[in-house]
Amino acid sequence: MSEVNDPWGGGLEMLFERLELATQSARRGTRGIAVLAVAVHERGNPSPLPESMWDAVQQQAIARIRRVVRRIDTVVILRPAEFLVLLERPEEGSFAVHAADEVVTALRTRYLVDGQHHSLVASVGISAYPGDGDDVDILIRCADSALEAAKAAGGDIFGFYSGKMNEAATRRIEIERGLTEAISRNEFHLCYQPQIDTADGSLAGVEALLRWRSPKLGMVSPGEFIPILESTGGIRKVGDWVLNEACQRAAGWHREGRPIKVGVNVSARQLTEDDFARTVDRALEKSGLPPQLLELELTESVLVGNVGATKATLEGLRKRGIRVAVDDFGTGNASLAYVRQFPMDTLKIDRQFVRGLPVDAENAAISAAIIALGRSLRLRVVAEGVENEAEEEFLHSLSCTIVQGFLHARPMTAEQLAEWRKKRPWA
Ligand code: C2E
Ligand code: MG
Ligand code: MG
Repeated sequence: MSEVNDPWGGGLEMLFERLELATQSARRGTRGIAVLAVAVHERGNPSPLPESMWDAVQQQAIARIRRVVRRIDTVVILRPAEFLVLLERPEEGSFAVHAADEVVTALRTRYLVDGQHHSLVASVGISAYPGDGDDVDILIRCADSALEAAKAAGGDIFGFYSGKMNEAATRRIEIERGLTEAISRNEFHLCYQPQIDTADGSLAGVEALLRWRSPKLGMVSPGEFIPILESTGGIRKVGDWVLNEACQRAAGWHREGRPIKVGVNVSARQLTEDDFARTVDRALEKSGLPPQLLELELTESVLVGNVGATKATLEGLRKRGIRVAVDDFGTGNASLAYVRQFPMDTLKIDRQFVRGLPVDAENAAISAAIIALGRSLRLRVVAEGVENEAEEEFLHSLSCTIVQGFLHARPMTAEQLAEWRKKRPWA
């Protein structure tokens, strides 16, 4: 590797060239770049390694860095036993975080120097375009000063140049780590939010909503941790847990003689599993819940993709008697014509279109159109996020009688729901 034998030569120049090209194309379009400054040093000692170690450490460190970054990424020597890595298209910093995390892990090891092993660690500083600067010098300087801060903090860690990104990255990593053990440590529970039929005040169903109490972070909202579970693939296992838990609960209500339909949210990653239908079958079998009491909620984005396979899966589920709802209707980019080709039972109008009814004229027009569409397709239409009487009255006047929202009830635990129902024997 030329840059290893010639640490002060072409390597850095090459990086400058690549970085210059990358910043140019990033300026023109949407491509991002991130720079990692990496140093290998003794644990707790940020000073440079003795010269006798440079060659051997550099060779081993570069080989390890290359194993964790991609082919399009560039690695060069910055100073003895210090490197710069240019990450192209790091996708809003999240690849940069992973790469930095993996570099720190990969370089925390024993290095063979003149037949002797030395345990060393690494520190990494990260800067990103355009947040930290839009030219090569500035990006390198930012990464370098983030590296100094990481070393000064004891090393064996990575850090962003900007404090805000540091916080966001640290939180994401903490959430990701916390989620891996959350099922086995019993940190998840489900809340249930009633759906009311305003025609007669009856309970039309409940939606199961996942809650996570992390011992370290406290309550974390699903809006924050579900996208992380989706990106790591963890949603399959957690989604399975949700499905089984909701079916067990609903089967209990059924056995008590007060059956309620339960809605369960399903992510794209779950639906595209080969054996998703079998997973659902097993949850129904194990709990004894009649399939008619289960409704799977899918967002439009879940339906975009392999149309044929998705349709077949949904048809299979509906043949068993399971219901299908389209969640957050109107918020995705799918056209109406697109969505209606899928077999479904329920349309859920997103809260964004319910807000401010009927004063908000645009929302009034949109929700009226969605309700009319739902009726023409003979679908059950549920309005989400109904918070006040004006919204409910307007929806009622359009013959949308099923509402879910804080006006009637917030999501509550199964125990709270039992109490809530006791006070409403008619519901
Ligand atoms: P969603 O499926 O559309 O769920 C409705 C969300 O609206 C819930 O938020 C609920 O608490 C909230 N909501 C209900 N009524 C009102 C209201 O009157 N006003 C306001 N402002 N909000 C209201 P939550 O529980 O935070 O869940 C957020 C999203 O996270 C859900 O949106 C769903 O997409 C996802 N999610 C929750 N549980 C699961 C799950 O088990 N699996 C999957 N894949 N996603 C889930
Ligand atoms: Mg939902
Ligand atoms: Mg929704």
